[in-house]
Amino acid sequence: MADATGAAACDLLLTGGAVVTMDPAAGVIEDGAVAVGGGRVTAVGTAAELAGLQPSRSVDCRGAVVLPGLIDTHTHLYQGLARSLGEGRPLWSWLADFMWPYAAQLTREDVRAAALLGAVEAARAGTTALLDHHYAPADPETVLAVAEAVESVGLRGAVARGMAGTPSAVARDHGLAGGLFAHSTSEEIELTRECVAARPPGSRVAVWPGPHNVTYADQELLRASAELAHDLGTGWHAHCASTLRDPEVYRDAYGTTPVAWLHDQGLLGPRSTLAHGIHLSDAEVRMVGETGAAVAHCPVSNQYGADGVLRLRELRAAGAVVALGTDGAAYNHRQDLFECMKQAVLVQRMHRLDPEASRSDEALALATREGARLLGVDAGVLAPGKLADLTVVGLGAAHLTPHHDVQASLVYAARGSDVLMTVVGGEVVFEDGRCTRVDEDAICAEALERATAVVRRAGIA
Ligand SMILES: [Zn+2]
Repeated sequence: MADATGAAACDLLLTGGAVVTMDPAAGVIEDGAVAVGGGRVTAVGTAAELAGLQPSRSVDCRGAVVLPGLIDTHTHLYQGLARSLGEGRPLWSWLADFMWPYAAQLTREDVRAAALLGAVEAARAGTTALLDHHYAPADPETVLAVAEAVESVGLRGAVARGMAGTPSAVARDHGLAGGLFAHSTSEEIELTRECVAARPPGSRVAVWPGPHNVTYADQELLRASAELAHDLGTGWHAHCASTLRDPEVYRDAYGTTPVAWLHDQGLLGPRSTLAHGIHLSDAEVRMVGETGAAVAHCPVSNQYGADGVLRLRELRAAGAVVALGTDGAAYNHRQDLFECMKQAVLVQRMHRLDPEASRSDEALALATREGARLLGVDAGVLAPGKLADLTVVGLGAAHLTPHHDVQASLVYAARGSDVLMTVVGGEVVFEDGRCTRVDEDAICAEALERATAVVRRAGIA
């Protein structure tokens, strides 16, 4: 047992399952148990070791596995009402000709409905925290409505407020002036400051600065976002080197590449969280690694758009934090990190033609421990003192029988729909097939009704 001192009573005891701690010192505990009290893990050990505790509630987890909650480090919940549309386009056309016309039609209530839908889907699939990159529409009331929606389902995380700022020449050339990106850099920063004040670091769902894309955003906006994050104690989040075109466009405009510029400006560090980070030179990989910056890797989305393959091994060896993201309901079509874990391994193997290029235990680390590092939450590992954010996955189904290696079973055989229970801060937010805090049927019905109307208005159906 890791530490049972003072844990004679606890709120919740999950006992009898395999416990995948993601703590290198503890590994996987067969016939294990996890005790929760005051929103945190109080003890981890074998079921026998924790048998003397006096829990308010005990859950029999025999035939199941208990693991840290999964952490989605890049999604766009507002895209949920466009799920299943937009197929077969390169990323820029997908954005300019499909996603932005859709986004321009969204009302605040549409976005709230999409965020509720996505958060419910995530909770059902064992996700306990997420980073939502929200930029449509990004007025403070809507940004805060998204945060409220995520929190109302019971999840934690951050909403990165999307911004482009005063149009750069690159932005004007690519149709990024006006519309969704109508504010000057100073206006954007003040609007974001207002949102962070309403949901500062430490909030269950906080707000971060979220410049849309390093290549196209105003350079001054990127400087100001990093500065704001430093001053207010948040992270900041932006798309970066998502496609081959990003560094090419940047080089043509500025004579350097996006990551090299960020590094040159001193903007890379643990607060910098870059979505995708695919097309990096060797030098840029070193820059991300040596500064301790983070990359949100979205393997399903990368394959959907044929955008490229992350340099996973090099980035991790260089010291970068690499975590997993779904990247939106319309560029992935699921908020399911089980699928992302499997694809994270497979895409590396296929790209390198090397079956040892990545493993299931690495994928689990990206989805849990590394996700917590990127998001800055004290979770991702089941150990005493950590936040009690965890997931219980049933192993009884035919597609999970047998499960000689529990970690491999979770990554290669399990699906989000195998999740039995999702717990955030010690609170059960999904159990017995239902989210506990919200009316899922009403959320799905409203989302469907709004989705039908918005795709008609946008002319994309
Ligand atoms: Zn994205």
